Amino acid sequence: MDEKRQSAPVVVEETLDPDDWLDVTRLAHRVVDDAVAHLRHVRQRPVWQEMPRGVRSRFNEPLPRDPQPLEAVLRTVAADVMPYPMGNVHPRFWAWYMGSGNVTGALADFLAAIQGSNLGGGNHAAALVDRQVVDWCKEMVGFPTTASGTLTSGGSVANLIGLTVARNVKAGIDVRGLGVAAIEKPLRFYGSDQIHSCHRKAVETLGLGNRALRRIITDADFCIDVFALRKAIAEDRAKGFQPACIIANAGSVNTGAIDDLEALAALAAEEGTWLHVDGCIGALIAIAPRNRSLVAGLERADSLALDPHKWLHAPFDVGCCLVKDAAAHRDSFATISEYLESTSRGLASAEWLHELGLQTSRSFRALKVWMAMKEHGVDKFGRLIDQNIDQARHLSLLVEATPNLSLMAPTSINIVCFRFDPGGLDEAALKTLNTEIMLRLQEDGVAVLSDTTLRGRHCLRAAICNHRTRYDDVELLVAEIVRRGNLLVGMR
Ligand SMILES: *Cc1c(COP(=O)(O)O)cnc(C)c1O
Repeated sequence: MDEKRQSAPVVVEETLDPDDWLDVTRLAHRVVDDAVAHLRHVRQRPVWQEMPRGVRSRFNEPLPRDPQPLEAVLRTVAADVMPYPMGNVHPRFWAWYMGSGNVTGALADFLAAIQGSNLGGGNHAAALVDRQVVDWCKEMVGFPTTASGTLTSGGSVANLIGLTVARNVKAGIDVRGLGVAAIEKPLRFYGSDQIHSCHRKAVETLGLGNRALRRIITDADFCIDVFALRKAIAEDRAKGFQPACIIANAGSVNTGAIDDLEALAALAAEEGTWLHVDGCIGALIAIAPRNRSLVAGLERADSLALDPHKWLHAPFDVGCCLVKDAAAHRDSFATISEYLESTSRGLASAEWLHELGLQTSRSFRALKVWMAMKEHGVDKFGRLIDQNIDQARHLSLLVEATPNLSLMAPTSINIVCFRFDPGGLDEAALKTLNTEIMLRLQEDGVAVLSDTTLRGRHCLRAAICNHRTRYDDVELLVAEIVRRGNLLVGMR
């Protein structure tokens, strides 16, 4: 033994840790000061601004070879990155569908990275936080404690996980072992013509093909026509297909329409299909004291996708998939790997969380939800959801009361579809006009809206998922749209 002992080789060992920890402490304090000020003064800045060419060109640098002090890197971030955000933390950002973040969540992301835990699983505190957040999600939407769930990168992956379990349960064969080609009767999934594009990606990824997802017509409120759905299922059955899964919208992406969840749950039970609810927008209305009845029936879903980075305002990214049948969830993803065996004690003596989804390594995204919910309490998040719905109703009333503005869809929750219509213009001209108004609002840094097309009619779309928005902001939006619209029409 002794003669084999060798002294360590004489090399210079390196590490990414700083030489001077005090120096990093000083810089880190400054980062925190600047970051908090950034958020505190967000209202004073433009929602969005185009990057000057000089700034843009600095992102074409080759791979850095030479080191530079952290202080210099931070200066570059302050000059070139922080002033040009997407803008969704601003009180007048209402495009697509996002949350507006929160300072506690940002601190949590920092601490999660400092602790560095990997949520593939294991016996450690981060895993317990993760499990607790999933349990809280179940409680918020009325799922039983026996349900299973996992935090994901967002709603798209949460939906993919739910639809994967649906496919596997309804395939009638061991689809994991044999593949989709061995399924006897081709599976059919159903959603309304308003479902989010991630469902198309999901059925394509699942090997079912886009055509396996039938889009069912919607009524005047953009909710699925349950009668037409029932007919489509019967037709498919007669043709030898296997109706497998109904995808319900609890808040559609275009207009916020909430399908009749009770009717769909009854139909799914009658037809023996899976019921998956896409609640990325609306599932959390279940915690809103004045509006929760809008999503009654949510708890009857077999699986449910929700998005804490939307109406819980967790900084990106965090989504969640819940599955009522815990065994079916695990059976869809569990694997036995010789390098990931559990032990009776120690770090590997807990369930492997990677057995609940696609990722092996996962970030400690639970902490930002956990900390903000403990700080504010669930009731406040519920009241903020009610507040956004009230603001959207206010905007809808303003639109209806303002000459040259028209509402383009019923406002059921927090999404308002409308347009500037001075009369006498055809559809193409209205699209050009409204697109120009939208772009000018962005470029002037006043507000960020997006647009969509409903039954062939183009419109502006404001999705108010923002705890910083005030009634004043909504009123300013209306005034600024009318001003720009009138100006553009006058200029024609
Ligand atoms: C946002 C959204 C998704 C996708 O979720 P991500 O978090 O962006 O991946 C799916 N469905 C609906 C209805 C959404 O609003």
